[in-house]
Amino acid sequence: MAVNISKACIGCQACISTCPYGALYMNDEGLSRVITDKCVECGKCIENCPVSAIELPAAAGRPAAEDVALPGGAAGPDRSVGLETPLSGDIARNQGVWVFVEQREEQVAPVSLELLGAGQELAKKLGVELSGVLLGNQVSGLVDKLYTYGADRIYLLDHPVLQYYRTEAYMRVFVKLVKEYLPEIILIGATTTGRDLAAAVATELRTGLTADCTGLDIDPRQRLLLATRPAFGGNIMATIVSKKHRPQMATVRPKVMKMGKPVPGCRGALVRPEIELKESEMLTRVLEIVKEQGDQINIQDAEMIVAGGRGLGDRDSFRKICFGLAGAIGARVGASRAAVEAGWIEQKYQVGQTGVTVAPRIYIALGISGAIQHLVGIRGSDIIIAVNNDPEAPIFKECTYGIVGDLFKIVPLLKEPLKELLEQIKTDLNRGQEVINCAG
Ligand SMILES: Cc1cc2nc3c(=O)[nH]c(=O)nc-3n(C[C@H](O)[C@H](O)[C@H](O)COP(=O)(O)OP(=O)(O)OC[C@H]3O[C@@H](n4cnc5c(N)ncnc54)[C@H](O)[C@@H]3O)c2cc1C
Repeated sequence: MAVNISKACIGCQACISTCPYGALYMNDEGLSRVITDKCVECGKCIENCPVSAIELPAAAGRPAAEDVALPGGAAGPDRSVGLETPLSGDIARNQGVWVFVEQREEQVAPVSLELLGAGQELAKKLGVELSGVLLGNQVSGLVDKLYTYGADRIYLLDHPVLQYYRTEAYMRVFVKLVKEYLPEIILIGATTTGRDLAAAVATELRTGLTADCTGLDIDPRQRLLLATRPAFGGNIMATIVSKKHRPQMATVRPKVMKMGKPVPGCRGALVRPEIELKESEMLTRVLEIVKEQGDQINIQDAEMIVAGGRGLGDRDSFRKICFGLAGAIGARVGASRAAVEAGWIEQKYQVGQTGVTVAPRIYIALGISGAIQHLVGIRGSDIIIAVNNDPEAPIFKECTYGIVGDLFKIVPLLKEPLKELLEQIKTDLNRGQEVINCAG
């Protein structure tokens, strides 16, 4: 099954770049066409077609879900899930979209800012406020920044007990806030902290949580959060709804949502709830914080990544070529799962569905075929450069620049020109950045 493209297609190409599966292409007549065995009917192209030329094959007969995944991903423009009766009773009391603002050492985690952008879209569709929940010790200095990223309101709890993340303390406070202020949607970054907190809060509130979402949308008729995520090893996209419980919760991995641009000067409301917390009542103590060493660790924030795959042949070549090129151009190193499983590099460098999601300005893939599980982790990259000796490798359908050939011969030749190209690309990208003012 795949989407249908009607004669209304005007060949504007708007759909092509929005397809997460590379399932759309332009034919010789300049019209959009679908590769049926790649299409998973996620509906992204339908949303983005300006002339409504794309539709799902007859959706009739699909079973209605009860707090379960919708097979085949989110449906088309009318994405209501077949609930006949409008929300009523207790559920209707919940209003507003919340984002948990993760912070450490006076820095807001980038994923929280990304989620404020995504949350703003959801809140707009529901006609409600977007709020940030900021917990910590002496963190009030972060509030203004959160308004500029879209928060209408901040719930701030500044308390010594909240200095470091502990499940018990954060969960207790978060649950109290939810019970008092009744949000309808809660978004949390799928970081180590976020995953832990989200699971604890959802369990305590006995509500639904969809983890590791790659897409979020709203069914406005039923006020449902449509939380889309890969299922069955990435072979289908499932859209999961929580019909009967509030709040509806979702976690999203860092870099999956694009971070919005801050709007300087924006202001919102500040709520400082009173919640009693005593250190003596906590079951755990933080005795010491041990930081991982090395600047290679966090590739999620890297501006440039040189990633290697099975095509590098062995561990020595992987280290020589990948680390060599990365060192020469000031990039960090990443890897495909094949390289990790071969023992050439540690798992924390793995990019993709079961590794990290990255969104660098430049991603260089050496000897990586471009399996879907790898591609889902790199689609946020501004520019993808691929070197592969197989002209049919799927990576060539995704990359911005592709070089067909033996990487062992090409990479050494490319070092200098690549350095120049990267400088040029960086300059162009910097020039492309703009600042939007609140009044503008
Ligand atoms: C549930 C699940 C989760 C997964 N999660 C991930 C994940 O998070 N990340 C991930 O990467 N994979 C993941 N995978 C695995 C994924 O399906 C692929 O198997 C993997 O990405 C392949 O890695 P690769 O591209 O390095 O190897 P291959 O697919 O073997 O590709 C090697 C490429 O190198 C090229 N090559 C060979 N020699 C040369 C040369 N001399 N010069 C140039 N090119 C050369 C070949 O043409 C080939 O295209 C997952 C799989 C499953 C089922």
